[in-house]
Amino acid sequence: MTDIKDSDRSRGKPLGLRGAGGTETHHVKQSFSHGRTKSVTVETKRKRVVVPKPGAAQATAANPRGAVAQNLSEAEFERRLKAVEAAKAAEAERVRKEREATAARDAELARLRAEKDAAEREEREREIREQRAAAAAEEAAAAAAKAAASAAARPAPAAARGAAPAPVDTAAAQAQAARAEAGRAPGGGGAKKATLKAVVDEKKPTRAKDDERRRAGKLTIANATDEEGRQRSLAAMRRRQERDKRRMTGGHGEREKVVREVQVPDAITVQELANRMAERVAAVVKALMQNGIMATQNQTIDADTATLIVEDFGHKVVRRSESDVEDVIVQASGDDEANQQPRAPIVTIMGHVDHGKTSLLDAIRKTNVVSGEAGGITQHIGAYQVRTEGGQLITFLDTPGHAAFTSMRARGAQVTDIVILVVAADDSVMPQTIEAISHARAAGVPMIIAINKIDRPAADPRKVRTQLLQHEVVVEEMGGETLDVEVSAVTGKGLDTLLEDIALQAELLDLKANPDRLAEGAVIEAKLDVGRGPVATVLVQKGTLRRGDIFVVGEQWGKVRALINDKGERVDAAGPSVPVEVLGLNGTPEAGDVLNVVADEAKAREIADYRARLARDKRAAAGSATTLDQLLAKAKADKDVKELPVVVKSDVQGSAEAIVQALEKISTDEVRIRVLHSGVGAITESDVTLAEASGAPIIGFNVRANAPARESANQKGVEIRYYSIIYDLVDDVKKAASGLLSPEIREKFVGYARIKEVFKITGVGKVAGCVVTEGVARRAAGVRLLRDNVVIHEGKLKTLKRFKDEVREVLAGQECGMAFENYDDIREADVIEIFETEKVERTLA
Ligand code: GDP
Repeated sequence: MTDIKDSDRSRGKPLGLRGAGGTETHHVKQSFSHGRTKSVTVETKRKRVVVPKPGAAQATAANPRGAVAQNLSEAEFERRLKAVEAAKAAEAERVRKEREATAARDAELARLRAEKDAAEREEREREIREQRAAAAAEEAAAAAAKAAASAAARPAPAAARGAAPAPVDTAAAQAQAARAEAGRAPGGGGAKKATLKAVVDEKKPTRAKDDERRRAGKLTIANATDEEGRQRSLAAMRRRQERDKRRMTGGHGEREKVVREVQVPDAITVQELANRMAERVAAVVKALMQNGIMATQNQTIDADTATLIVEDFGHKVVRRSESDVEDVIVQASGDDEANQQPRAPIVTIMGHVDHGKTSLLDAIRKTNVVSGEAGGITQHIGAYQVRTEGGQLITFLDTPGHAAFTSMRARGAQVTDIVILVVAADDSVMPQTIEAISHARAAGVPMIIAINKIDRPAADPRKVRTQLLQHEVVVEEMGGETLDVEVSAVTGKGLDTLLEDIALQAELLDLKANPDRLAEGAVIEAKLDVGRGPVATVLVQKGTLRRGDIFVVGEQWGKVRALINDKGERVDAAGPSVPVEVLGLNGTPEAGDVLNVVADEAKAREIADYRARLARDKRAAAGSATTLDQLLAKAKADKDVKELPVVVKSDVQGSAEAIVQALEKISTDEVRIRVLHSGVGAITESDVTLAEASGAPIIGFNVRANAPARESANQKGVEIRYYSIIYDLVDDVKKAASGLLSPEIREKFVGYARIKEVFKITGVGKVAGCVVTEGVARRAAGVRLLRDNVVIHEGKLKTLKRFKDEVREVLAGQECGMAFENYDDIREADVIEIFETEKVERTLA
């Protein structure tokens, strides 16, 4: 290029000036060595160099012989200089004009604003005037009602319409009134004309005003959008800056300005806590983390943790535990020893299926009816009362079985005083018999053993007694303290003795209650009756329930409309241990709900609302299981109890015994492990209810929970821990007991597959043709082979095939082939459990 320039210059040939315009494209002859030349278009390049940037222009002006200008002819330079100057002038002119325009606009704006204000003011004043005028017109109309009734009637609505300026309106009205009067005299034509004119007159000012308003409207909109738009964006920017600044300084501390009173209930989700503090959830999670607590937004934290966090954020904690609303109930329960009077015992019948619970209940009831207690027809209301020959009253709960018993206990109602354990004499102690024993023990209720079906030839009561011994139930005949009676529900043999024994046991228990206080009871049954609305059978436990009483029961409340006893009779009151049907509820409660009579409807409603809210919260927080360590912490905090209840289920009797022994040995001065129930076989719903009622975790040793139990445990937040090594189990409990739980390896359930068919493939071994029933099957995960919910084998998969291909995962509902590594004993209908292990940091110690 330099070459080119040089050569061009040497020839004194000015560049790019071939055309008159000079700025168009032009060609330059390039010379190379060896005499070669070439014509090249160079204009663009050059132009770019001399582009008249302001700086460049100045340079050119200051030094007309500058490097760039050197290549331009004088004329061209002059021309360009002029052009530059012209451009500058034009620019200056534009700026000036713009400024003027802005000033003009501002002035206009100011003027318009002023105008607008004035218009508004005028409008207001006009309105006031109008109102006054309307009032005046009305007065005038009233006064002149006789003379110009029709005329006066018009201005009033016109004024009231408020569309036209008042003075004009009134004037028009007056004119109209006058005209109307005049019109009536000369005749129709004149009247018509006058009316027309009046209409025009009336319209004119309206239009004028409309115009004004329209103009004002236009201006206002222009004003508004222009001005406020700018203001808003500015404010938004400021807000953003502020926010950024806050974020930079990194703290919620900045927000102290807004100190909120945060109500902290006994348990709260992280999300809800954030809401109540009006803080971001992420910030709360972070704060929790800083306090060493890992929790997601849906997790529930306790009141203490929440308090800590609220204080961290600089808010004020209001620890008004919402449960305060329930204080009325607690206060009401001041039971004086002096007021206590004996009450009837409440009895529940438990036992294995088909051992004769229902038959016994019926037999007892019939004996009683036959023995002449009141009119014949008894009514099933969930409980009934009988009188012994000795004149003692006994209340029987009509729902046999420990499931109902324990689920009621789980809901807070400890209704039963005595448990009758029915064991068929021709059978033996069965799994449910053992469960019943555990449930009764967990509730701390004494038992009476009814050895039933004594009429049967195969009856062997001695065998039953010995078997009971194995479960630490020592009956009187064996030198123990547990009462036992041989009965027959069919022949009625021994029933009297049974009733007498109950009376005796009741005497020992010294059951008393104060009948002269606000009633408290438990719901045994509840239903929605088509004709009668919600009906609940309530077993009164304290006080006397009367017609007209206002009460709260669980999440419902009501006013006693009627009381019906077990014989179907209407009664006015029901004292302690008396079961009655209660009518007058506003909703259907649940079995196990506690009924309390309160002073007034407002209280009842408040408590019911609170409980409903609590239940909702609990449902929302479901899934956060009460873990072993949490339970332990609770057990420790509780000064009286200090024991950790557990439910143990295992694959064989031997391991169950070994575990129970090992666990009982752990018991230290600080904490005692109490095995509520131990058994063989899958974990059932009954185990879950028992665990829930007693706040215990369930320990499964080589057994699994069946599907309903798993679901129930999830819902109720009962922790189920699975183990396959006794040492691990004992070690975990031991660590929990000493409060030293290390990060645990927790198992994550991945899926279940059921074996549909087993194939034998030479060279490979047995392959299970399965269908994935739940979750997914994963090649890399751990697997267990379950037969009847008992673990048969634990290991890894050798293959996971979908059709012919080896795959990593198979989804629920799909079929697949699986084979275990080093294990072959697989059978049809076996279940393969797929699990993964993960390390979980302890959350709450
Ligand atoms: P549940 O499942 O415990 O309620 O037992 P049921 O009351 O339904 O009784 C089961 C079966 O045992 C029924 O067929 C009864 O007739 C029978 N059964 C109950 N008690 C006796 C009894 O004392 N003697 C005889 N022979 N059979 C009885």
